[in-house]
Amino acid sequence: TIQLKELYDTAAIQKLDTAHYMHPFTDHQALGEKGARVMVRGEGIYLWDSEGNKILDGMSGLWCVNVGYGRKSISDAVYRQMETLPFYNSFFNTTNVPAVLLANKLSAISPPQFNHVYFTGSGSEANDTNLRMVRRYWDVLGFKERHTIISRHNSYHGSTVAGASLGGMTDMHAQGGLPIPGIVHIGQPNYLESGRGMTEAEFGIEAASWLEQKILEVGAEKVAAFIGEPVQGAGGVIIPPATYWPEIQRICDKYGILLIADEVICGFGRLGRWFASEMFGIRPDLITFAKGVTSGYIPLGGVLVGDRVADVLIKQGGEFNHGFTYSGHPVACAAALENIRILEEEKLIERVADDTGPYLKQRFAELADHPLVGYADSCGFVAGLNLVRTKADNPHDNVAFDSALGVGMVCRGHMFGNGMIMRAVGDRMIIAPPLVMTREQIDEMITLIRRCLDLTH
Ligand code: PLP
Repeated sequence: TIQLKELYDTAAIQKLDTAHYMHPFTDHQALGEKGARVMVRGEGIYLWDSEGNKILDGMSGLWCVNVGYGRKSISDAVYRQMETLPFYNSFFNTTNVPAVLLANKLSAISPPQFNHVYFTGSGSEANDTNLRMVRRYWDVLGFKERHTIISRHNSYHGSTVAGASLGGMTDMHAQGGLPIPGIVHIGQPNYLESGRGMTEAEFGIEAASWLEQKILEVGAEKVAAFIGEPVQGAGGVIIPPATYWPEIQRICDKYGILLIADEVICGFGRLGRWFASEMFGIRPDLITFAKGVTSGYIPLGGVLVGDRVADVLIKQGGEFNHGFTYSGHPVACAAALENIRILEEEKLIERVADDTGPYLKQRFAELADHPLVGYADSCGFVAGLNLVRTKADNPHDNVAFDSALGVGMVCRGHMFGNGMIMRAVGDRMIIAPPLVMTREQIDEMITLIRRCLDLTH
């Protein structure tokens, strides 16, 4: 700890940071005198800042460091690939070995309809790719009107123009005149917020029916695809009722609409399966992935392309005029292969499914007895709790995160100050810990959360 303090002159780094670095999603004025916290090291589920503070990372960075920090075998794989072939693209009749091996591996671990992969540099680029791919699919089949994509309010699909347009975050739409044409949104399956007077099962069917209503309003002959996160992440860990996704699938099938599952967060074990689609009873045509594919060690994203779309684009589509310099980047693909090997060898996904996931569920649910917590729920290794000033008996009265009491930010401050990272979405506090977290570490995390809730109360 002391060594770290000596190594890093925090004030000097913060000064340079303020002088030249424009951060994403940051109000720089609000950062003020204090400046940004400087993170310098990671090991397992812990981070250290430049002042030597140890912090339990309840968010896996940005929902991505699934195998935890400090994996030497990933840095070795990256180093080896850097030395052998640091870059070559796969345009213009070339390919590279890590990209080929990764495409094959992803086809093997994904649901059976997926036998092709399109690589990008990020989740946002992958969703841009989806938009172009589904429109191209319908064009090739001769349905040139079929271009509208239906998404959901409060969803997050990235920060590029298409990604933010597909997303349903109004704050993002307000800056830059989004969404772009041809994208429409329906309500999110948020039982607490909108399911009053219904059972969860009834509400799931009701929320899915909004898709059918929108299809009929737009005209089925104009709808290309529906996109959704199996569990909404950035919107506040919104876990849909079990009836929701099968009904969405039924509606997509009925109108022949392509289904895109954005698994940028849910994929690679976060919910205790390789892909969450497998547990929600859906057969998507396209799956967006990023984050957990490399555990965030190196940027990589992509689209798993189902046979229905791949057959048309590959056999009838000619050249698809789309691609990125870093599509199939050999170093990123090498990192992904090693990351997937670790997930398999250490059985981390099975552990989340059968052991630590259920344990987290049980321990997290206990937090609901805290006077500040209106509701606590989880699914695999994502969880959220609603902070309320006055707790009501009816859970539908404990939806504080839309009314934004401001208590979430206060709580987040206490977390950060007490060695724990937990994210605030309005007044909903959320976590997505690294999949390597043990039962003992779950206990440690719950103790920390409870202490910070006490401080906030
Ligand atoms: N889709 C989902 C569901 C996400 O959560 C994110 C990022 O948080 C993205 C897409 C965008 O990914 P990226 O930030 O890699 O562009």
